[in-house]
Amino acid sequence: MTEKRKRLEEKKKQVSKKLPPLTEVVRGTFMPWYGVCKNPRCRCHTDKKALHGPYYRVIYSKGGKTHHAYVGLADRQRVRRQVNNYGKIWKGIEQLSALNLRLLRMKK
Ligand SMILES: [Zn+2]
Repeated sequence: MTEKRKRLEEKKKQVSKKLPPLTEVVRGTFMPWYGVCKNPRCRCHTDKKALHGPYYRVIYSKGGKTHHAYVGLADRQRVRRQVNNYGKIWKGIEQLSALNLRLLRMKK
């Protein structure tokens, strides 16, 4: 194996090691939101600055439609990380694919 080929193989291992676990992934956009409460006398009904929150949800598309899933406060850090993981995993796949294509084009 040539030096260059070894370096590319090593780079593949590094990229692969840095990937988040595939099990911890959510495709969507993590969004804070603010809402009104059930108390009709509360200021939140008349003053936008008094809305309650932030609460969190994930907006995602499926079958050409937009959906959302509410995220409990206890889950928000994990879900935010899962949403970030989605992008990191795709980026890693692109890097690995590019490295494999370089290896493919190299003479043995
Ligand atoms: Zn309120």
